[in-house]
Amino acid sequence: MTYLLKLGELTLKGGNRGEFEKVLKRNLRALLKGATAKISVTNGRYFVDVPEEHAEQAERAFFRLFGITGWALTQVSDKTVDAVIDACIEEAHILERKNIKTFKIEARRADKSFPLDSYGIMASAGRAVLENVPALKVNIKMPEAVISVEIREKAYVYSNSVKGLRGLPVGTAGRGLLLLSGGIDSPVAGFLMAGRGMGIDAVHFHAYPFTSDEARQKVAKLAEILGGYTMGVRLHIIRFTDIQTRIKECAPFPWTTVLLRMAMMKAAENTARRCGAKCIITGESLSQVASQTVENIACTQSLISMTVFRPLIGMDKESIVRIAEKIGTYKTSILPYEDCCMLFSPEHPILRGDVKEALTLFEKLDIDGLIKRSIEERVMYRL
Ligand code: ATP
Ligand code: MG
Repeated sequence: MTYLLKLGELTLKGGNRGEFEKVLKRNLRALLKGATAKISVTNGRYFVDVPEEHAEQAERAFFRLFGITGWALTQVSDKTVDAVIDACIEEAHILERKNIKTFKIEARRADKSFPLDSYGIMASAGRAVLENVPALKVNIKMPEAVISVEIREKAYVYSNSVKGLRGLPVGTAGRGLLLLSGGIDSPVAGFLMAGRGMGIDAVHFHAYPFTSDEARQKVAKLAEILGGYTMGVRLHIIRFTDIQTRIKECAPFPWTTVLLRMAMMKAAENTARRCGAKCIITGESLSQVASQTVENIACTQSLISMTVFRPLIGMDKESIVRIAEKIGTYKTSILPYEDCCMLFSPEHPILRGDVKEALTLFEKLDIDGLIKRSIEERVMYRL
């Protein structure tokens, strides 16, 4: 069976295109691991040949591949007018069996030696389909299905295009360190950055025994699902129990969450440097909760200099949930295990923290040593 994959934005990348295509091919190979597959590349198209028993795995791989706008199972026919028309009629029969009533034909002639031009192909194949499959009618503006013809080194005919993830191949934009809680937002944030080509390491802070082992497993599961799109994820688990205890004992209660966030950012920056990540990614969304007001976000990042990406900052919860459902993290995210942020969280948190005050309070905690130790004792998993 032959699949045709359409490259998206990649085609815009001029000089970098070779590099982008190389990474895309490597990612595709990794996702197809275990299947017998032959991958070939020509001008803006990838072709993947797999035996029928591996088709399901191949389709699963295409659904997880950033960098393609779409894909289709295609017929491969000889480059003669008769063969192309026969293939279109066969495709029309498939549409008929799916009870589809309207269609149009789209043609693209990359090989100019083919005797019909694009318009000629559309006209002849369209006429042949109407004659042979009377149940189908042409509708140019709003067809239920499109039969596509591409004349390249062979002729390709397909009608079952599926949308791809788009974006850029993971690994073309360096690596970022995602702060991964067990919630809905952070896995989505990681997914969106991966869609811009970023490889993902994740860090999770826990407060065992105040937080449960199930909470940790839940995060590992989320990292694993995310890793399905990002060619794997390295998950760093950091124990923050002592740090949280110190904050609880020494800081004004309304400030505890903001100070904890500052400590997390500090630890994340240090971890990022150690694992070669160039930026930090969080699932923060403006004003979603008290710790995410513009003032408190400023406090959160006041201790570090590394770039912080917050891809959800302007999104509402509903849009975030929709993506979480699509990528398969939602059901795991809503499992009811407590995150460490909920521990000792104040009933009346500070809403508009002042950065100077935050820095003074943080200094008083005297927790740099504790943070350093927690990082050194971190545990890493490959998922
Ligand atoms: P999420 O759904 O991602 O948990 P949230 O809406 O619950 O987000 P917060 O709990 O305020 O928001 O967390 C904001 C961000 O801080 C998270 O998106 C995540 O990036 C980071 N974060 C929070 N808790 C942790 C944690 N225990 N370990 C790692 N990162 C965390
Ligand atoms: Mg959370």
